[in-house]
Amino acid sequence: MPGRLQHRVAIITGAGSGIGLESAILFASEGASVVLADINLPAAERVSKLIAELHPNAQTLVKKSDVGKESDVKALVDDTVAKFGRLDVMFNNAGIMHPEDSTALDTEESIWDLTMQINVKGVWFGSKYAILAMRKNPTDVAKGLRVGGSIINTASFVAVMGAATPQLAYTASKGAVLAMTRELAMVHAREGIRVNSLCPGPLRTPLLMDFLNTEEKRQRRLVHLPMGRFGEAVELARSALFLASDDSSYMTGTDFLVDGGLSSCYVTPE
Ligand code: NAD
Repeated sequence: MPGRLQHRVAIITGAGSGIGLESAILFASEGASVVLADINLPAAERVSKLIAELHPNAQTLVKKSDVGKESDVKALVDDTVAKFGRLDVMFNNAGIMHPEDSTALDTEESIWDLTMQINVKGVWFGSKYAILAMRKNPTDVAKGLRVGGSIINTASFVAVMGAATPQLAYTASKGAVLAMTRELAMVHAREGIRVNSLCPGPLRTPLLMDFLNTEEKRQRRLVHLPMGRFGEAVELARSALFLASDDSSYMTGTDFLVDGGLSSCYVTPE
């Protein structure tokens, strides 16, 4: 059976941890050449080694890249196309939730700006250079390759529902990702470029678990989760694979919620 991303080239930002790490492994297992981009180079290099052990035939490229810097993102896409000849999937996954992000009254402007720089501008830059590259993708009918591609932008459940946890900049940034993604999808739909948001619920990854560092804090959230557990990064990776591959060929502009039912639920704690 050919992999679902056979002959495809995918960039994953934030590939050194959590959702990005699991997606890199899964995309490689489905035949993709995977570009692992992260601000933390050693973390991305570890993932590349892991992929080489698990899938010896997989091709990877590791790039130190800060998605908040336009020059880094341009170089990331340019180097990808120089090495692999095309770009089919751009997974704009990197994001931060700053520990000093708080209420409207307590959040420093510098924290707001940093969060927007990475979470919003990072997605814009990633989308911009991906679109430019995808427009030039060589067509190879025998291999199922064509102009266009799939862009996946990671938002969050907090983009669609209010969270009582004060993290104003993060919440606003993810709302921006959702709105930006919808517009990108509409503007580029006729070019064969699909753009979808991936909205994870609360996950058992370092981003959230570093913050929910006591059982009491975790239980306060778990009571709202219909499934009674946090999501796993690999569950989001599987959803990203669906959006990346032709399995989702008629989907664009969606707010793809993978949240264990959280956003559909009215829970009354006992
Ligand atoms: P994570 O913290 O486990 O991994 C994030 C990775 O991004 C890290 O390897 C980090 O080094 C990298 N990174 C940070 N800043 C970067 C930058 N400027 N440039 C490039 N790389 C950078 O996080 P995760 O839980 O896998 O989250 C991935 C995405 O999912 C984020 O956008 C996050 O906001 C979103 N999300 C996570 C959750 C959750 O509960 N974990 C929920 C909803 C949405």
